[in-house]
Amino acid sequence: MSGINVRSSVAAGAAAALGLVAGGLAYASMWPTSQFFGRTLVAGSDPDELALTFDDGPNDAATPMLLEALARHQVRATFFIIGSFARQRPEIVRRVAAEGHLIGNHTMTHPRLALEPARKVRQELVDCSAVLEDLNRAPVRYFRPPFGSRRPIVLQLARELSLIPVTWNVTCHDWKPIGSEGILQRMSAGVERNRARGRGSSILLHDGSHRAMGMYRMDTVHAVEQVLEAQPGRRWVTLDAWSEPR
Ligand SMILES: [Zn+2]
Repeated sequence: MSGINVRSSVAAGAAAALGLVAGGLAYASMWPTSQFFGRTLVAGSDPDELALTFDDGPNDAATPMLLEALARHQVRATFFIIGSFARQRPEIVRRVAAEGHLIGNHTMTHPRLALEPARKVRQELVDCSAVLEDLNRAPVRYFRPPFGSRRPIVLQLARELSLIPVTWNVTCHDWKPIGSEGILQRMSAGVERNRARGRGSSILLHDGSHRAMGMYRMDTVHAVEQVLEAQPGRRWVTLDAWSEPR
């Protein structure tokens, strides 16, 4: 074998290794259950405990309909709210809080925090908590990074602000056009997978969209109505039942 071939194969090997490292870091910064960049709260250890979590609201149509469905079944859920939307629809946020649901910080403008400088990350968290605390008159304790995007400084800044970083372990893909049946299939598959592993389920859904106020979320609403009807005995909890990363 010639020296040139040896060098090129070494170079190719190094490039492949770098690719793996880069891929692994991207995975760690986005994958919801990864703990590589710091501890995040995922779910509890009781497989019978399930949490419905809604991101990207408030939303004119979907949030009130979800609140009605949750009230009918006396279920409390967790809402990760975008601060700029909360400013536009303060009455919906007040209603979410007044009806006993848990409110969390989902940043002010929904950026990918892993790509933002520390100063901007801090401002996004501070501003969103300020809006929510002004409306709710209670401290905000939980924070979910938009897109699950994070790196060590994001989690460190959140903790400095007394916010517990939260991800999820059931992805329902309700931002895709899969209908309420598709959402329900993914939800039950995720819950069963967690059950097999002896884990509770934190279910990611969306009552809004970061792209605009008022986006269509009726498939999510119908999926939630159906799951609450179909499974009345489920133990639905809010994230404060699990409190700390484990
Ligand atoms: Zn979001």
